[in-house]
Amino acid sequence: MLIGSRREILGGIGALAIGSGVPGRAVAAPRKIGYAIVGLGSYATRQIMPNFAGCEHARLVALVSGTPAKLEQYGAEYGIPATHRYSYANYDRIRDNSDIDVVYVVLPNSLHAEYSIRAARAGKHVMCEKPMAISVAECEAMIAACREAGTKLMIGYRSRFEPYNRLAIDLARRAHVGPTRFITAEHGFPIKPGQWRLDRPLSGGGSMMDIGIYSLNAARYLAGEEPVEVTAVETTDRSDPRFKTVEDRLSFVLRFPSGIQATCLSSYSSAHNSYRVIGTQGWIDMEPATPYEGQSMRIRKDGVVAPRTLPASPKNQFAGQLDHLAECIIGNTTPIVSGAEGLADLRVIEAIYRSASEHRAVTINA
Ligand code: NAD
Repeated sequence: MLIGSRREILGGIGALAIGSGVPGRAVAAPRKIGYAIVGLGSYATRQIMPNFAGCEHARLVALVSGTPAKLEQYGAEYGIPATHRYSYANYDRIRDNSDIDVVYVVLPNSLHAEYSIRAARAGKHVMCEKPMAISVAECEAMIAACREAGTKLMIGYRSRFEPYNRLAIDLARRAHVGPTRFITAEHGFPIKPGQWRLDRPLSGGGSMMDIGIYSLNAARYLAGEEPVEVTAVETTDRSDPRFKTVEDRLSFVLRFPSGIQATCLSSYSSAHNSYRVIGTQGWIDMEPATPYEGQSMRIRKDGVVAPRTLPASPKNQFAGQLDHLAECIIGNTTPIVSGAEGLADLRVIEAIYRSASEHRAVTINA
C-alpha cells in the first residue's frame, strides 16, 4: 500500500460506517491499517498479536509462517481467512493483497533486512523488530528499499510509546534535575541454552544485539543527542556452551557532544533492567525501566527522594506502537522511531564491538 493511496485507506475495503453525529446520516470512518505479521514466535504471538485489540487505527489482517499448524491455530484464533495466510515460499504474494498495508517483521535478527526489503518491494510499509538488522550496511539497504518504494519504515522500539519512558525523556530534556551529567543504563538476563539468539548467523551478535540495545537506545533517547565516541569492554567465558559464537557481557561508555557520559551494561548472564539520569540537582531513576509492564520511577531532587506514579494509561506501549505507524500512514508523517533510529543504534553497536576487540576508544561516525 503506497502512501499515495490514502483515498483507499480512508474509504476502501473494510471501511466502517459510524454515526456522524448528524441524525439520519452515516459517514465512513477511516478504515484501520492492516498488518501482516511475519514470524509467529514468542514475541509476535504473546505480545503483539493480542494487542491489536487495544488499537484505534491498526488491525491484524494476515499471517506469514513456515509452520502450517501455526497458521491454522492463529488464523482461527484471530479470524484470518486462508486467503490471508502465507508461507515463506509464497510471501511475495502479499503484493496482491490490498488488505495488507504494513508488514511487521518479527523474525530472528539476521532475517530482518531480507523480509523488510521484500515487503517494501511488494509496496508495503514496514514495521521491523529491534535490532533493525545485524549491520549498518543492511540498515542502509532497508532504508533505501523503503525510500525507493515510497513506503514507511519503523522499528519496534516500544518503550518510546510507554508513558514512564516518555516522562523520563521529557523530564531529562527539561533539565528537571538539572542539566544531565551522567546516564547509567543496564539490561541483561541469564539466557537459556539452545536458541537462535546464541547462534551468530541468526542473531548477528550476543547480548548487545538483543538486550544491551535497550541500554544503548535509552542512553540515546534520554540524552537527546548522538554519541561521538565509545569505549567498550567485553567479558565472555568461551568455555560456557552458550557463548561459543556470541558475546556475553559488555560494558560501554558513550561520550555525547554536550559532555554527557553514559555508562551502559549488556549481559546474557545476569539480570538487569534499569536506567538513571543524573543531573546537577538529583536523579531520575527507573527500575524496571523497559519491561512489558510495571515500570517504576523515583526522582531525587534537591535532596528529597520520591516515587513518581502515573495514572493507568488507556493504551499500552504495544498498541501505542502499532497505532503510531498507522497514524503516520494515514497522515503521511514520519515515525518517531524510523529506520534512521535503528541505523543509529547499529552504528554505535558496530563501534562497541570494534572498541571491545581493539581495546581502544572508537569514534562514531554519523
Ligand atoms: P522466537 O524464537 O520466539 O520467534 C522467532 C520466529 O521466527 C519463530 O516463529 C521461528 O519459527 C521463526 N523463524 C523463521 N525462520 C527462522 C529461522 N531460519 N530460524 C529460526 N527461526 C525462524 O523469537 P522472538 O523472541 O519472538 O524474537 C523475534 C524478534 O523479535 C527478534 O528480532 C527479537 O529481537 C524481537 N523481540 C523484540 C522484543 C521487544 O520487546 N521489542 C521482545 C522479544 C523479541
